[in-house]
Amino acid sequence: MKAYRDEEGNVTLFRPDMNMKRMNRSAQRIALPTFNGDALLELIKQLIRIDKHWIPKEPGHSLYVRPTLIGTQKAIGVSPPNEALLFVILSPVGPYYPAGFKPIALYGTTEFVRAAPGGTGAYKLGVNYAPGVLPQKSAVALGYAQNLWLHGEEHYLTEVGTMNMFVVLKTEDGSTELVTPPLDGMILPGVTRDSVLTLAREHASGKYPLGELADKLIVSERPVTMKEIKDAAASGRLVEMFGAGTAVVISPVDRIGYLGEDIHIPTGEDGMGPVSRPIWKELVGRQWGTIRSEWSVPV
Ligand SMILES: *Cc1c(COP(=O)(O)O)cnc(C)c1O
Repeated sequence: MKAYRDEEGNVTLFRPDMNMKRMNRSAQRIALPTFNGDALLELIKQLIRIDKHWIPKEPGHSLYVRPTLIGTQKAIGVSPPNEALLFVILSPVGPYYPAGFKPIALYGTTEFVRAAPGGTGAYKLGVNYAPGVLPQKSAVALGYAQNLWLHGEEHYLTEVGTMNMFVVLKTEDGSTELVTPPLDGMILPGVTRDSVLTLAREHASGKYPLGELADKLIVSERPVTMKEIKDAAASGRLVEMFGAGTAVVISPVDRIGYLGEDIHIPTGEDGMGPVSRPIWKELVGRQWGTIRSEWSVPV
């Protein structure tokens, strides 16, 4: 998660409760001890207060907060550890796209998988990252920035690199559909994913309309296959595609390499599409403190 400092110097954490809950679920999945999330959050706040001069003042900058839990039992063998260490790493970070959005190309990999049913893909574990490093290197060698992780014979889209993913489609009746894969055990329940979905749903229901965003917006958590993406691209119904995660917030996609051909995806004039742009604006406004919301928790 990240800590932000607004123009008046107030420091906030973005949706820390979701992070604490997810970390506890992840700890439990690998038989590490769970912990009191409120207590850890209090300690993190105290640490940030001590180190707050490390939060860059420049707009778009923030402090990356990475609580980490590892087993430390001095033993050989596979069993739940009787000793563990919980520590918190802080690092100042700049914006991912300091010079405007730069859409990325994805390699739809049919050789490697990130997650599988019954596996650990839905938990934030180090074990999920290491096996992705080599496929990432191979994708870069082929001229793509990241892997698009596919699942099953139908090639269901799951995630992009280490981000959740969204596609926007025009439906037959002229509505705009924002689609992301459901939390089926293979998808990491991202805070950014949830934030994008919540903003889109509150817009669609009229509870919190976002300027510039389509009136007839349908928000779907449903499986989506490469065939559907290919067909939508061919018939001009593919509106945009983007990755979503804490580090980058929103990352537009302009191309997918898939089974030897390239599928081209529209991007807006400044690199962002008509759905991601207003959502991104609202999201970063809430993070940077220019838009007040209960997602920002004072440090
Ligand atoms: C961390 C992560 C995400 C994004 O989660 P956020 O909470 O939005 O940062 C998505 N996919 C994977 C595999 C991740 O590890």
